[in-house]
Amino acid sequence: MTVASVSDPVTAAGHADNPAQARGLPFDASCAACPRLAGFLAQQRSALPAYYNAPVPAFGAVDARLLVVGLAPGLHGANRTGRPFTGDHAGVLLYQTLFDHGFASAPVSEHAADTLRLIGARISNAVRCVPPENKPEPAEVRRCNAFLAHDLAAHPADGVVIALGTIAHQAVLDALGLRRAAYSFGHGARHALPDGRLLIDSYHCSRYNTSTRRLTPEMFAAVFAAARAALDARRDAGAA
Ligand code: SF4
Repeated sequence: MTVASVSDPVTAAGHADNPAQARGLPFDASCAACPRLAGFLAQQRSALPAYYNAPVPAFGAVDARLLVVGLAPGLHGANRTGRPFTGDHAGVLLYQTLFDHGFASAPVSEHAADTLRLIGARISNAVRCVPPENKPEPAEVRRCNAFLAHDLAAHPADGVVIALGTIAHQAVLDALGLRRAAYSFGHGARHALPDGRLLIDSYHCSRYNTSTRRLTPEMFAAVFAAARAALDARRDAGAA
């Protein structure tokens, strides 16, 4: 991918009239379209040469019926290991919860080369490069939205999306060409999308949210239980 191609953001308008735009762009691990993030990664390649230090790809089958969308790689997590939510605190609760609900083959994601498999699930991020202080800028989220749009284009129509946090929630809406104002973020909120998919919101499983108990393991489990129930009901309805 060229820098110019991803610099044209997939915006909230026009998807219905522009199917090519709605498909987004396939992930490119060499993308350097965001100058601030590319510069930060270059710094980390010098400071932390053993780390992955590149745009982090999504993990899981492209046609998995559950798509989990997070914010961005953590410096010492996905940016270190090259797998979303792997190697830092946020992934501990996520992978345990995925395992508890039958979406992962093991409760711990140790590194990108371990034997863990996702089962009918895929994990993606609104932003693929580690941002300083875990805070991507709005322009960076918009620019990276083309990759998320590509993930969503492959996501089945009877699928469920779990958005972890407000930025992920808005990125999903943007990628689908939906108006943000029509779908308010709220933990546990369920949004029936026009194309048939279900979007479920959750607070992000960050260290801050879990240590302050804004998000408890029970609250997080309830979100994934809802996703599992919805997926099972949709499968059964399709088979009937
Ligand atoms: S955040 Fe996304 S669009 Fe920006 S440089 Fe990284 S991969 Fe490219």
